Amino acid sequence: MPIYEYRCGACGEELETMQGINDDPLTTCPACGADQLKRLISSTSFVLKGSGWYQSDYGSKPKPPASEASAAGGASSDD
Ligand SMILES: [Zn+2]
Repeated sequence: MPIYEYRCGACGEELETMQGINDDPLTTCPACGADQLKRLISSTSFVLKGSGWYQSDYGSKPKPPASEASAAGGASSDD
């Protein structure tokens, strides 16, 4: 059976599930219970949506997570 990826539009939860092609798509998020699950149809769609989400999220934070992890490892004297 194919594996489908879903993302919740309410809380951002992502999950993968195996479904037959004739099964009804999931709509209810198992994490928050909202009927906001959207199936990620193709890798192209995923990249486009993911890029937009990342940019908006990035703009609201002072640093990306990668820099946080790096800074936490030790003192950064030369930035
Ligand atoms: Zn959710």
